[in-house]
Amino acid sequence: MGVYLDNAATTRIDDKVLAAMTDLMRESWGNPSAVHGMGLAARGEIEKARSMIGACLSVDPARIVFTSGATEANNTALNHYAAEGERKGNRHMVVSAIEHHSIIEYCCYLEKRGFEVSIVNPRSNGTVYVSDVEKEIRKDTCLVCLMGVNNETGMIQPYEPLAMLCRERAIPYHCDATQAVGHIPFGTFLENASFSFSAHKFHGPKGVGCLVLPSELSQFNKLLHGGAQEGYRRAGTESVEGIVGMAVALAESKREGLHTSDIKWMKKRLWSGLQHKVGGVVLNGTLNGSISYILNVSFEGVQSDALVSMLSNVYEVYCSTGSACCSGTTEPNRVLKSMGLSDAQALGSVRFSFSRYNTLEEIDYTIQSISNAVSVLR
Ligand code: PMP
Repeated sequence: MGVYLDNAATTRIDDKVLAAMTDLMRESWGNPSAVHGMGLAARGEIEKARSMIGACLSVDPARIVFTSGATEANNTALNHYAAEGERKGNRHMVVSAIEHHSIIEYCCYLEKRGFEVSIVNPRSNGTVYVSDVEKEIRKDTCLVCLMGVNNETGMIQPYEPLAMLCRERAIPYHCDATQAVGHIPFGTFLENASFSFSAHKFHGPKGVGCLVLPSELSQFNKLLHGGAQEGYRRAGTESVEGIVGMAVALAESKREGLHTSDIKWMKKRLWSGLQHKVGGVVLNGTLNGSISYILNVSFEGVQSDALVSMLSNVYEVYCSTGSACCSGTTEPNRVLKSMGLSDAQALGSVRFSFSRYNTLEEIDYTIQSISNAVSVLR
């Protein structure tokens, strides 16, 4: 099957998740909005899942809106805050340069609608500093946006102090927590902020995610209009099996979390192997400041797309040149560029991302494969 090291793009589904979903699709496939027994059973499954997710994240389940994933959750959040801002005459947002496209592209759309967006770059270590964000906040700022963990470098961002600052200043804060939820404890402190995530990043199914709304929300401006689902907050028939799969996956990630120190070892072993057996490598971000399952490395004198192809075609080692949403482009990675990397460094960068299904033997095989491939390419 090869060695799968692209877990920041998506993860293998957990067997318990798969079993829960197939059971449900076979036995409880009613429309959750129907008022007969089949509908009520499906509705019951959704509400059980909502409670489970609320308990895992220590948030009130009433704050959870199920969506088709983090893209929709991020678009929905920005749409809401923009509408609130517009109502109050505040049309300015502060957004980090390292956000996912589902934030950045929505901001471009809002700019066309007359909003002004201040973009805050990270420092060279891949971290966006709270003081740099604070400098951009104005009287008419209607939203501050900084992700939890960057999907390219794995750098953990100061979302907690920023959420507190925004709370003090009474400015809404949204956190894209897609690479954080299911990996690090997340939720409680963001009482007055919103956050988003996707199930397939923690061994759940694709096409389902959550937007967790601030606890005190007087009015919500929805993105999808139609039926009365999700308390009139998100129209469309719910993916019952997807939602249940997400809840089981999150609970499993929490349980498995006790054993994920192995992932940290894999990352350390790969980085040390690359330094000693390959050489000419630069770590993008820092080892201590990044999440344990993402390692981003630039290979001197190597084009990363050639390396990634050779690793896949010859050695069946699957990693990536950056986020899957941008693969296929020949542009240097924009997140790495915003950290101050040169075009050559950014074009030589590879992202390795691990999961509980990887083994240390796979890491050793990967180091040897990279060493062989790099000596051919250099
Ligand atoms: N935000 C981040 C940080 C991500 O990594 C991703 C997925 N690459 C998304 C949002 C979007 O998730 P989805 O494609 O599941 O909607």
